[in-house]
Amino acid sequence: MDMTMQQYIDEAESVLLHTYNRYQVVFDRGEGVYLYDMEGGRYLDFVSGIAVFALGYHNREYNDALKEQIDKIIHTSNYYYNRPAIEAAKKLKAVSGMDRVFFTNSGAEAVEGAIKTARKYAYLKDGRTDHEIIAMEHSFHGRTMGALSVTGNAHYREPFEPMIGHIRFAALNDFDSVLAQVTDRTCAILFETVQGEGGIYPATEDFMRKVRALCDERDILMMLDEIQCGMGRTGEMFAWQRYGVKPDVMTTAKALGCGVPVGAFLMTEKVGAHSLEAGDHGATYGGNPLVCAAVCKVLELYEKQDVLANVRTVGAYLERQLDALAAEYPCITARRGVGLMQGLVFDRPVGDIIRDAMSRGLVLINAGTDIIRFVPPLVISRENVDEMIAILRQSIREVCC
Ligand SMILES: *Cc1c(COP(=O)(O)O)cnc(C)c1O
Repeated sequence: MDMTMQQYIDEAESVLLHTYNRYQVVFDRGEGVYLYDMEGGRYLDFVSGIAVFALGYHNREYNDALKEQIDKIIHTSNYYYNRPAIEAAKKLKAVSGMDRVFFTNSGAEAVEGAIKTARKYAYLKDGRTDHEIIAMEHSFHGRTMGALSVTGNAHYREPFEPMIGHIRFAALNDFDSVLAQVTDRTCAILFETVQGEGGIYPATEDFMRKVRALCDERDILMMLDEIQCGMGRTGEMFAWQRYGVKPDVMTTAKALGCGVPVGAFLMTEKVGAHSLEAGDHGATYGGNPLVCAAVCKVLELYEKQDVLANVRTVGAYLERQLDALAAEYPCITARRGVGLMQGLVFDRPVGDIIRDAMSRGLVLINAGTDIIRFVPPLVISRENVDEMIAILRQSIREVCC
């Protein structure tokens, strides 16, 4: 007899390490902006695998490109050249204006690479081994030890102490707090252009400009984590492009491959020429032909489908609808975000609202305990926003009123 969804869930809990409190659903397939569970239940998806599946599910051209690459070659070592990686790096350079690309397997690994780049850059200048990085409170950069060390949430770090060390924390958008942490050993200032997990806080233009000026003055690397806010989510390919301020190093991942495990850290020519050299860094899978074929197709489809234009119009619409909802219900205390990266702040934990929405066929996710985060596929329509708002309103009425 076929197993039921609940039996699969029970089995999962008996074999997988329990590091996630999972929602009680087994997703089986996706179509556009909808997910289907294994019993045929349909869900409007406003999570997209946490800002990953930007183009929606079951995109024919994307799937065909991957199948074609699988039949050619999936993997070769980075000791050889492969055409998809060359093409993907060229395209990524073109949309970012950065000069050098290193492909990784995840976001956290891209952050690790950025940290190593900063330390090596500073080491080549003065030969010291005590350089410091300034990161932000409420930041999130991933779960590996280096990325965790720059993550501004003590709760995530504490059980795994000691961290890599020489990390100082400041407050996003409080330039004086950054200045207070600068020493003659500071090698980099790292932050998310829009903080994601920490609560959807966009950096202000003033803060970006002041950090840039400080970094120029003291030859400190400005490093932006664009893993969640990048790849079109704010209406620009990378969120920093709204500000006319360019970083020295940036990270990307999540939507970069739209579902295959790939990230990257990128840098300017100046940093590339004075940091990591042959033998300094590597990754067996990093930038293999399969994932790079995905990156190539993703960037091609972004252009072909004018994804950024859709984010700007539908993002503005989503913002208006969320503002209207916030005005209607006193349990919503704020709306924050840019484009299709939005957060609604509640006066209470949002778990019950998210679970209720799920039971009505809408997938949402939190950011912290009190914030509902909206990071839908970038191809959603206004009608999808209306559909989402209608369900969310029912859930808010059910839980908050
Ligand atoms: C998700 C995320 C990461 C970590 O990416 P993984 O692929 O999960 O390692 C790092 N930084 C930001 C801003 C993220 O949102």
